[in-house]
Amino acid sequence: MHALDVNNIRKDFPILSREIYGKPLVYLDNAATTQKPLVVIQKINEVYTTINANIHRGIHYLSQLATESYEEARKTVQRYINAPNSNEIVFTRGTTDSINLLASSFCRSQCHKEDEIILTAMEHHANIVPWQIQSDINGIKLKIIPITKTGEIRLEDIECLISLKTKLIAVISISNVLGTINPITDIIQLGHSYNIPIMIDAAQSVQHVSTDVKLLDCDFMVFSAHKMYGTPGVGVLYGKENWLDKLPPYQGGGEMIADVTFEKTIFNELPFKFEAGTPNYVGVIALGEAIRYIEKVGLNNICSYEQFLSNYATNQLEQIPNIKIFGTSQHKGPIISFLVDNIHHYDMGILLNQLGIAVRSGHHCAQPLMNTLGIDGTVRASFAFYNTKEEIDILVNALRHIISIFS
Ligand code: PLP
Repeated sequence: MHALDVNNIRKDFPILSREIYGKPLVYLDNAATTQKPLVVIQKINEVYTTINANIHRGIHYLSQLATESYEEARKTVQRYINAPNSNEIVFTRGTTDSINLLASSFCRSQCHKEDEIILTAMEHHANIVPWQIQSDINGIKLKIIPITKTGEIRLEDIECLISLKTKLIAVISISNVLGTINPITDIIQLGHSYNIPIMIDAAQSVQHVSTDVKLLDCDFMVFSAHKMYGTPGVGVLYGKENWLDKLPPYQGGGEMIADVTFEKTIFNELPFKFEAGTPNYVGVIALGEAIRYIEKVGLNNICSYEQFLSNYATNQLEQIPNIKIFGTSQHKGPIISFLVDNIHHYDMGILLNQLGIAVRSGHHCAQPLMNTLGIDGTVRASFAFYNTKEEIDILVNALRHIISIFS
């Protein structure tokens, strides 16, 4: 028995009751984006119909209300990840935007030619390409932590890569392909023992497991609202205050300034220094609502139920002949990548779609990982707490049916 009443929870997500090609939707593409609960949809509506105005600028009533709601959402995010200060929460457009901000600002101010940034072989393109762009600009070098056969990283392999030139270690917390939960606490401690700051790409973990940046002691953390039941176009960069203070702004414009003349600009204080232009304040306020919804369901309930789903799905999938699951760590989030027989992942995705099942097929924005695995893509099923055991049975039966067509 689970503390979580999935049938009632599903009523909170209107899209889950729709049909695809006459079949009930089975949405198993949650690592790409999650569906939105009614409270989030209603919050967006409420903002536009009752308090909409640009924030931080106006002295009029609506602007003050909108500003208060935006800043309240910042405090909600602060509480959710247990950040010491609300000015350590910078709102961005998403994980990708957060990493671009950090890569640009960090490399510009902290790195010299030949300095090194360490990444893992399982990073999403969002945590590879921004550093490569900086490498072209500054001549920094990227060093890559290899993965084991089970899809894990080993601390000794990280230690081998650390040198006097290492400036930052940037690591994904849960792999969006393999599902591996990386040992980020140990990685942070290891990095700090060499005085190296750590950035955690938490895009696939903040919605599944409880996150405490104070306890973790990470220097930076990034994630996206749309993967945690909020809207696209909103993300978070958490940074320790002493780090954010040291870093220069990423973009210039309104909001991020204290005083501007044609001769000189004085930048605004944290976090506004990093929030140039009108932010997606509606999306940020909706993120606050999404977090309150997650907290109402309870992250511990979510975590244990999703673990149950994931274990059940793994057991059922393993019984399919000739299936290969990529990522066999004992520590996995609710993400399963696989291939069956020699059926191309793209064909499998299309055929599952015709049966109403939404999975992702392809390289999942992790082409270097695909190269390491020697494949060009996988089928990926990823779960959220509104998924059911019955949906997993539908997936497994559909796979068996498709395999029978091919054989
Ligand atoms: N990092 C990881 C681990 C991801 O899974 C994703 C999205 O799939 C991203 C970064 C990029 O997120 P966004 O597209 O929301 O910026």
